[in-house]
Amino acid sequence: MFRIVPEVRTLIAVRIVAVTTLLVVVLIVQFTTDQFLPINYLYLVAALTYALTIVYLAVAALVVDRAVNLAVQVAGDLLVETLLVYFTGGLDSPFSFLYLVSIITASMLLYRRGGLLTASACVILYAGLGDLLYYGVIPMPEQGFFSMTPFSSFRLYLNMATNFAGFYATALLTSYVSEKLRVTSLELDANRRSLAQLKVLNENVIASIPSGLITVAPSGVISFANPSACEILACPAVEIVGRPLADLELFPEEDWERLRDAMLTRKAARGETEHYMRGGDRVTIGYAVTPLNTLDGQPAGISIIFQDLTDVKRLEEQLRLKDRMAAVGELSAGIAHEIRNPLAAIAGSVQVLKKSERLAPQEQRLMSIILKESDRLNKSIQDFLQFVRPSERRAIEFDVVASLSETLDLLSNSLELGAEHTLERALDPPKYMLVGDPDQIRQVFWNIARNAIQAMPRGGRLRVTTAATYDAIRIEFADNGRGMSDHEQRALFQPFRTNFPTGTGLGMAISFRIVQEHGGRIEVDSEPEGGTAIALTLPRVPTMRS
Ligand code: ADP
Ligand code: MG
Repeated sequence: MFRIVPEVRTLIAVRIVAVTTLLVVVLIVQFTTDQFLPINYLYLVAALTYALTIVYLAVAALVVDRAVNLAVQVAGDLLVETLLVYFTGGLDSPFSFLYLVSIITASMLLYRRGGLLTASACVILYAGLGDLLYYGVIPMPEQGFFSMTPFSSFRLYLNMATNFAGFYATALLTSYVSEKLRVTSLELDANRRSLAQLKVLNENVIASIPSGLITVAPSGVISFANPSACEILACPAVEIVGRPLADLELFPEEDWERLRDAMLTRKAARGETEHYMRGGDRVTIGYAVTPLNTLDGQPAGISIIFQDLTDVKRLEEQLRLKDRMAAVGELSAGIAHEIRNPLAAIAGSVQVLKKSERLAPQEQRLMSIILKESDRLNKSIQDFLQFVRPSERRAIEFDVVASLSETLDLLSNSLELGAEHTLERALDPPKYMLVGDPDQIRQVFWNIARNAIQAMPRGGRLRVTTAATYDAIRIEFADNGRGMSDHEQRALFQPFRTNFPTGTGLGMAISFRIVQEHGGRIEVDSEPEGGTAIALTLPRVPTMRS
């Protein structure tokens, strides 16, 4: 079956029902009264309507346009109505109201233009019929049941005038209402569409912002969490939504007071917290808490917008350290030089004096102490100078795993490593080419590995492992030595902070600088008495930083 516009179909159906009902009523009337009613023309009207219905269906099959279909039907109706009016007494006919039905239908379905056109068509048909009957051009129908009394011309015009006024008034009123309805429903549609768009936009914005967003109902239960919130908190939405905010442990106890105050005064609160634990690591979170309102201004809970500041904080810390190191370096490089020259003179002179044969053994011993200590001092200054004014950095391609192996071999054979120490290595891949300064990188390995040994004065195990991706290699030195407190860890890269008996406190400061210059980073994981793991990540090709 072909598709018919719903309104066109409805109109056909309603008409069929109306005509069929009429037909049934007529049949009942004719067979139940003994009196013969001359209403056979009603059969004609019904037959005509059924026939026209076939035409309407044919038109609907051929033309999709709704207005054309409706116009054809209205025209057909007007034709049938005019016939009916003619059969039932012309201008006296009780059926002339049917014109109004058609006008209302057209006004409603085809709006103002359709309504007025139909009203005009009715005027023409009605006036035409009236005039043709009045002037005797067509005969009066021979029915007798409804008879047309001869009209005076005055009655004729009065009848027409009142009918015409009725036709147009109906068309105007009905189409006014239907136009209004049409505009309203168009507006409603547009509003609904823009509302839907706004909703989608809102959802997109909330889903795509890089900040975490959580809303909390007045009861304290979390009612919403966007994807970024789940990512920052490393917790799926199902585990966040529906839980009390306090359970999330985003804020420490002492912050609650302040937040509550802000809520009570309906003001926003901002801050930073390091309370949240993400898989064993503390996360620094910067947040803004804002009260939410309903449309009529009632409190509706709060929203929390937050960011993960952990990386930013780490960078800040590193920058601060770099600044401090630069300042210290500038100042002390000069002094170091000033010490080194007289120191060389002292050591040289003592060396000469020591050769004298007139010295008592006690004096010889003292001289040796001077030499040994000045040597040590010289070594410290050398370290220091390297730290503040490192040698020219080369950038060549070399095998970093081979460098690591060599350094560890050197350490195995050095005096530092006692029998109570074990050195394990799992170096995979066996070869990894890197661009940088091999001497400096070797120095970093040496510094870190030596620290590990020094942190295990009573023996222990140093395990060196590597892991590589295409872009970078990660080298980890894990010892089971005495470990570091939080405080020690913070001071690890700062120059001159040492807890080793013969240390200078420069090894890690130098290493930090070298690794930075190679575009890499150092991560520290340590617990007091729980050993230390120092992980170096070096990119294959450094984005050179100064
Ligand atoms: P130095 O070795 O001259 O003391 P470093 O810069 O190499 O200077 O180390 C600084 C400090 O960091 C050390 O004195 C020590 O307290 C601590 N440290 C470094 N590595 C370790 C480690 N593997 N285990 C425990 N403490 C360490
Ligand atoms: Mg050291």
